[in-house]
Amino acid sequence: MLFKAKDKITKSYDVIVIGSGLAGMTAANRLAKLGRSVLLLEAHNKLGGFATWFYRANKKHVFDISLHGFPFGMKKTCRKYWNKEIADHIVQLKGVKFLNPQYELESVFTREDFTKKLVNHFKVDVSSVENFYNYVEGMNFYDDQQMTNAELFEKFFPGRNDIVRFLMEPIVYANGSTLDDPAITYGIVFSNFMKKGVYTFKGGTDHLIKMMQDELLSNNVDIKKHAKIDQVVIEDGIVKGVLYKGELIQSKAVLSNANLKNTVLNMVGEEHLPKEYIESAKKVRLNSSSCQVYMGIKPGESIPYIGDLIFTSTHPTFDTDALMAKNITSRTFSVYYPDGRPYDSEHKYAIVSSTNARWEDWASLSEEEYEFEKKKMIEETLECLGQYIPEIREKIDFIEAATPRTIKKFTHHEQGSSFGTKFEGLDVSMKLHEKIPGMFHAGSVGIIMSGWLGAANYGVIQANEVESYLYKRSEV
Ligand SMILES: Cc1cc2nc3c(=O)[nH]c(=O)nc-3n(C[C@H](O)[C@H](O)[C@H](O)COP(=O)(O)OP(=O)(O)OC[C@H]3O[C@@H](n4cnc5c(N)ncnc54)[C@H](O)[C@@H]3O)c2cc1C
Repeated sequence: MLFKAKDKITKSYDVIVIGSGLAGMTAANRLAKLGRSVLLLEAHNKLGGFATWFYRANKKHVFDISLHGFPFGMKKTCRKYWNKEIADHIVQLKGVKFLNPQYELESVFTREDFTKKLVNHFKVDVSSVENFYNYVEGMNFYDDQQMTNAELFEKFFPGRNDIVRFLMEPIVYANGSTLDDPAITYGIVFSNFMKKGVYTFKGGTDHLIKMMQDELLSNNVDIKKHAKIDQVVIEDGIVKGVLYKGELIQSKAVLSNANLKNTVLNMVGEEHLPKEYIESAKKVRLNSSSCQVYMGIKPGESIPYIGDLIFTSTHPTFDTDALMAKNITSRTFSVYYPDGRPYDSEHKYAIVSSTNARWEDWASLSEEEYEFEKKKMIEETLECLGQYIPEIREKIDFIEAATPRTIKKFTHHEQGSSFGTKFEGLDVSMKLHEKIPGMFHAGSVGIIMSGWLGAANYGVIQANEVESYLYKRSEV
């Protein structure tokens, strides 16, 4: 059932899931399908976490926040752990473009097409390309994690900054990777995309989350929105439930989809965990954040087809610092055409410009400086987009910007982190239930488990752990 704001929860559950990001929702759905009683508690007024959207001007405009592209694997995950109808809405993005001072290319973002480009445009011999692909496709997360991304590229394409840009830049946008991160995090995500290209959800994020909510309810998941949880209740070293508005809601297990550090250090609390584990959790670094500019096209107006996903940069070379800098030189434009939203009554076009960003560049600005910087970002984005759609200023009637501060405000993620934690977060997340029986975490950690596919798949992995715990517990 969908609880109303004033409803009191008196039932006890097998599992309480805190947070309805893609990992939390997928875990809740899997556990419910396995026959477990599940309560899903979400702080926000809607489900989805970063898989979200917002309306403006009486729904005249709708903007998707993180629906820019994900690997084909999401279709399989949705078919297996959600339903066929959701999976059938997942369609390929055809027009992925790269426009920067080093090259201008268009690709369907597959191994076959990238190989052609590397051989014909970048003039690399085919055996080097094959060796690179075979190496990254063979990576899995139990492997040696010493090699960095910079070392990986130097091994296969020495001295080729243009190739590093071609192979790496889209993945930096997808999960905030840098050249210093372990190559494993790049290899797994890149290979996932290269299998079949980049995919999106036809109908928009609002449609997807509605379908997911319906599926959760039909599988008897109880849902409560506006329910921010600050404390997991632990007695005698074992999970008893969560504290909500000062009262205990009982459960045999709790799975938190909130930020890893917040889960471990605040919601569970240092006093319940071994010292070394707390030290490792404190050392986990958060991933970078994002800025976005949302542009709505006037009703009745149209724009020409310029591609679906356009990676643009004016920076002369590939440089991960420049990709994060407040002085923006690189933007990814996601262009949403009306056929992507066939269920909306009016034909809607929207453009979202996304850029990686650092929390510290935005956190300490005064209100005046903050407003000034946002206006500057909007102005420069219009300037840049004007190169591809010259009459863009006349065509839009809505424009708004979001920064790392906006992300923090709406998602409670420390430092507005868009992609969870760096790689070391994975180990801390996976070991939580070894430290406190019944306490689990699933959500964007370690870059690999981030993004729509990574988060949903990690939800499944951790739901299986919860199921195994509940099964063993019932046997005692
Ligand atoms: C700007 C941007 C663009 C992106 N673009 C893409 C993309 O194109 N492709 C892609 O694959 N990925 C993209 N991502 C990343 C992707 O959206 C996320 O990795 C993924 O959705 C995260 O899912 P999650 O399960 O980790 O949880 P989150 O989305 O982080 O959700 C966590 C949920 O928990 C709730 N919560 C937190 N604390 C509490 C609490 N104490 N009590 C109750 N509820 C709580 C939050 O409100 C939230 O709903 C993007 C992210 C951003 C920010």
